[in-house]
Amino acid sequence: MSDETKKSPEYKRVLLKVSGEALMGNGPSGVDPEMVDMVAADIAAVAATGVQVCLVVGGGNIFRGLAAAAKGMDRAQGDYAGMLATVINALMLQNALERNGVETRVMTAIQMASIAEPYIRRRAVRHMEKGRVVIFAAGTGNPFFTTDTAAALRANEMECDALLKGTQVDGVYSADPRRNPDAERYAQLTYMDVLSRDLNVMDAAAISLARENHLPIIVFNMHAPGAFGAVMRGEGRFTRIIEAG
Ligand code: UDP
Repeated sequence: MSDETKKSPEYKRVLLKVSGEALMGNGPSGVDPEMVDMVAADIAAVAATGVQVCLVVGGGNIFRGLAAAAKGMDRAQGDYAGMLATVINALMLQNALERNGVETRVMTAIQMASIAEPYIRRRAVRHMEKGRVVIFAAGTGNPFFTTDTAAALRANEMECDALLKGTQVDGVYSADPRRNPDAERYAQLTYMDVLSRDLNVMDAAAISLARENHLPIIVFNMHAPGAFGAVMRGEGRFTRIIEAG
């Protein structure tokens, strides 16, 4: 039995990182409502099993500070715009989750009290204990960071059992599988493997934060219906990043 098909540990609380790209479907940018609905249905099914779920949403489908800086925009200003893009995605996901009967709260790292709650750690924990899906938006609230780092940060703060990263590919490969047919997919890696081989999973700050706090990371393809639920049951294809041994 390979590592990925072994029964997964019982997860009580998890953080799912939904990248902006995961919401744009097959389009070049923006949001695909069908994709958002599919992701929401997947999350609803997992929440219905009693697992406490929180989300960090990205914004790369709408705006990335780094890309804007490459075209001459001030980096910090661009990053603030990027953080606002994550709030747009969070509101769309919240709406789709509520249509699926899930009670939700959006909490933002940048205060915008008319549309979302400010991020307060203990309040977020309480929401989850009450069965609400908490959506963390606006990243860390700081420029020069990414939503991957925000995901590792919030997962640690919420004492999650795992950080699940939903992407467009079914795990971590030795090279981009969309360009290189010989790319090898890993079932399991250590944090150090990812850092020392510079594997394209999450930025180094996110991996280091996970490593310091022994937070397992699971990378899987969000584009298949039911993929989140399958990974929670230890089924399907994914890469698990943990400590050695
Ligand atoms: N961002 C930031 N600080 C954070 C999180 C995000 O400045 O803590 C900005 C940054 O410009 C980034 C953008 O928000 O490019 C969108 O987030 P990200 O690229 O992580 O989204 P994803 O790749 O997951 O769609």
